[in-house]
Amino acid sequence: MGKVAVTAAVICAAAACAAAALVVRHRMRSKGRWARAMAIVKEFEEKCRTPIAKLKQIADAMTVEMHAGLASEGGSKLKMLISYVDNLPTGDEHGLFYALDLGGTNFRVLRVQLGGKSGRIIKQEFVEVSIPSHLMVGTSDALFNYIAAELAKFVREEGQDFHLPLGRQRELGFTFSFPVMQTSIASGTLIKWTKGFSIDDAVGQDVVAGLTRAMERQGLEMRVSALVNDTIGTLAGGRYLNEDVVAAVILGTGSNAAYVERAHAIPKWHGPSSKSGEMVINMEWGNFKSSHLPLTEYDRAMDAESLNPGEQIFEKSISGLYLGEIVRRVLCRMAEEAAFFGDIVPPKLKIPFILRTPEMSAMHHDTSPDLRVVGAKLKDILEICNTSLRTRKFIVELCNIVASRGARLSAAGIFGILKKMGRDTVKDGEKRRTVIAMDGGLYEHYTEFSNCLENTLRELLGEELLDSVLVEHSNDGSGIGAALLAASHSQYL
Ligand code: ADP
Ligand code: MG
Repeated sequence: MGKVAVTAAVICAAAACAAAALVVRHRMRSKGRWARAMAIVKEFEEKCRTPIAKLKQIADAMTVEMHAGLASEGGSKLKMLISYVDNLPTGDEHGLFYALDLGGTNFRVLRVQLGGKSGRIIKQEFVEVSIPSHLMVGTSDALFNYIAAELAKFVREEGQDFHLPLGRQRELGFTFSFPVMQTSIASGTLIKWTKGFSIDDAVGQDVVAGLTRAMERQGLEMRVSALVNDTIGTLAGGRYLNEDVVAAVILGTGSNAAYVERAHAIPKWHGPSSKSGEMVINMEWGNFKSSHLPLTEYDRAMDAESLNPGEQIFEKSISGLYLGEIVRRVLCRMAEEAAFFGDIVPPKLKIPFILRTPEMSAMHHDTSPDLRVVGAKLKDILEICNTSLRTRKFIVELCNIVASRGARLSAAGIFGILKKMGRDTVKDGEKRRTVIAMDGGLYEHYTEFSNCLENTLRELLGEELLDSVLVEHSNDGSGIGAALLAASHSQYL
């Protein structure tokens, strides 16, 4: 071998060694990364655990808070607001009524022609309009003007098959899904905004007066005859269809629950005695908080950076506005500390709320062998390309952890309500049917979530009550419910 050849061979060998070392180092590094990423997820999973014993503690805490909130104003994180609804629909409601549903990303206006016991719902129509985001943080006049204009347009476009008796004013059930201190069935002041709304001048103001003024400015002749929220609307709509409905739960952008309470079990109620002996309570359960809640550092950071730190803690762990964001936060940590997506942290991943819950649910529901949907979502939303199958599996698992915790906590909340109502056990061998009307985009579309919720509730109830407690999807029962309540509180009755 000549000198040149020897040198070349030595260089080649050295290069090969270096390359091999690089590969080994890369493998080790990659192994280290995986181990670190796995540790982050494992730790998160551990903190999110919701064994049945813990769920029962949470349900008990919910019951305790319900009692405290009913005892006195400000007695609990749960406001347990009196709705002034003591007569849920019976089926006798008759005439043309309207509903306006405001409380999330869209608002909806609806008209329904009711035909009493025989005619039932003769005809209904609705339109859905999205709320421009600048109106969610502007002034209450701007928001109400926008809504009243849409409402006026809806009325102008009414067809011949809806009939308003001559000389009568149109009547509206207003579903306003934010905490309101009710002063009568058709008036109430806003306590605070939730779900990303923040309009300072509306807090403490009468929301019906605000809407009424805006309708007047639009030249719209319409009276608000009932002010409710989506849970009460859902409860009313559910009851109209099924008389065993005694509670309603919303799992959408936010979350809340309402149920029928015995009037004499509400110490803080000093109003006129309820004819039915019952009163619907708007729990505002989103604000529930308990030391038993399995919260993580990601929840705490999300809360601290939110528009309403310290508030709506239960809602922030179970509802649609937040689940995707929790997943994003864990992924971000994995990217930063374990280089989960390579050496640089994908810039998009740092943007709060970029990963929305519908996208999370699409990934979670991906059944393709190569998790194609997960790959596509990562690319489209976060601009993360060429992810491995292993990475995608990790992400599905992460979605599962966040969704399961939310679903199981929701089930615990429902179990707490059933306990408060004394419907968590069989009394004197008598099995009363209990139906919970459920609505909201999260519950409706996130099947893994709703299945987990129902399975967990069954687990909590036990064998004996399995077939007497039922969760029923009330498909937009809230709108019809509000119109029904406008009918049962009509000025013409
Ligand atoms: P809102 O709560 O705003 O009144 P909805 O009840 O329709 O309206 O709920 C909408 C919310 O439901 C969205 O903000 C989202 O969090 C959730 N959602 C909608 N579609 C899906 C989906 N496919 N998977 C999971 N969550 C969804
Ligand atoms: Mg809604």
